Amino acid sequence: MPFDRIVIRRPDDWHVHLRDGAMLKAVLPFTARQFGRAIVMPNLKPPVTTTADADAYRGRILAALPDGVSFTPLMTAYLTDGTDAGDLARGFADGVFAAAKLYPANATTNSAHGVTDIARIAPVLERMAEIGMPLLIHGEVTDQSVDIFDREAVFIDSILAPLLERHPTLRVVLEHVTTSEAVQFVRAHAASGRIGATITAHHLLINRSHIFQGGIRPHLYCLPIAKRETHRVALVEAATSGDGPFFLGTDTAPHTVTAKEAACGCAGCFTAANALEVYAEAFEDAGALDKLEAFASLNGPRFYNLPVSEERVVLERRPSVAPDLILVSEGDAVLPFRSGETLRWSFGGTV
Ligand SMILES: [Zn+2]
Repeated sequence: MPFDRIVIRRPDDWHVHLRDGAMLKAVLPFTARQFGRAIVMPNLKPPVTTTADADAYRGRILAALPDGVSFTPLMTAYLTDGTDAGDLARGFADGVFAAAKLYPANATTNSAHGVTDIARIAPVLERMAEIGMPLLIHGEVTDQSVDIFDREAVFIDSILAPLLERHPTLRVVLEHVTTSEAVQFVRAHAASGRIGATITAHHLLINRSHIFQGGIRPHLYCLPIAKRETHRVALVEAATSGDGPFFLGTDTAPHTVTAKEAACGCAGCFTAANALEVYAEAFEDAGALDKLEAFASLNGPRFYNLPVSEERVVLERRPSVAPDLILVSEGDAVLPFRSGETLRWSFGGTV
């Protein structure tokens, strides 16, 4: 029974939404419990666009950490049409920024400030390429005439491929990939060492049919939306290959139950409460638990030129129950992914 207990280097989460205020306080302990570091998304209201914003936000995150928990937030800048390349470069040099995030305008939650035309930020991208600052991309076109299930593949062809050609040394992470096209694209560019891709836990487990199983399941609605089964299989293959460009990024994105269970519900799955347990399940189902450490703990730091963790965590193959509602404030709560369900794995903490 070699895999009833796995000890791996402490993982990092390369794509997290921590929000702010009461929500930050409610959700941060879950991410910080399992992960040593996290790339923190900048889509607050208003977004984190400057070094000063990021420095202040990092301070609020550190202040919200439970006592005795070691956790390093890695901050990102929200690119806009008006991003100041000088400020960005200074923030990166000073260790405030780890990366910058490109949201096509209106692609997802709080992205109304995003970049309206990528050509407008060419000087910023040139500067980022020069200094080796990674560009993190939400890879979906926002054209409402493009079918929602095709928006990632169309983005890759029409925007990402030309972008990589225009900026041949820019380092890019295609975030939360959901399609076989994305996996193929990343593999085709893998030799350059300048492209990475994060894969969420929920996209390894659900396909688009799950969103409509027995009725509409608002808590499984996220962006990019889950695709058909062939794509999920491609994601599992990529994640469990252990190959360098693919690494863990949960895209855990808390919204209150009232915001999710509404006539026009928000996009996002809150997976931080049991992320490693869920990933372990996906890797076990693929017979690839021996690749979990590469995906969760090694490939990400290598891409970001950071040291791998010297801490170790343990996962045990004994049932655990995903947490129930998490209270944010009076009358507001977040429902974790697979809440109330029994999971096959348990997180045993650091060892
Ligand atoms: Zn996200």
